[in-house]
Amino acid sequence: MKGLKSNGTPIRVMAVDDSPVTRKLIKKALQPEGFTVVGEAGNGKEAVELYPRLKPDIITMDVTMPIMDGLQAASVIKKLDANQKILMLSAMSDNDIIAEAATYGIKHFCSKPFKPQQMVQKILEALEK
Ligand SMILES: [Mg+2]
Repeated sequence: MKGLKSNGTPIRVMAVDDSPVTRKLIKKALQPEGFTVVGEAGNGKEAVELYPRLKPDIITMDVTMPIMDGLQAASVIKKLDANQKILMLSAMSDNDIIAEAATYGIKHFCSKPFKPQQMVQKILEALEK
């Protein structure tokens, strides 16, 4: 079970994506490995509001979302906690997105579409570094 910490408790994930289908795919990828998806948000604003209550181990953050996009939300969350782990999810591997994310201290990306094991692997890598 890759989604368990060394003390046996689940790694807590918050899934942020405006696509309910993608959020479902994230859960389907993670839950069989023991991760717990503790919360979901459909846009950046919801994510920023929900974040302080959940304090997840890691956030999967879509880039393109209405109301507040993933880069904006990630920058707000990083200001609240510079150590918060965030895995950006993007259909486009755009150098501008990567460069902007880097200015917020975010260096972990997963491209969409993803295979379940890719998602698991990217999350574990992001938590390690
Ligand atoms: Mg989107």
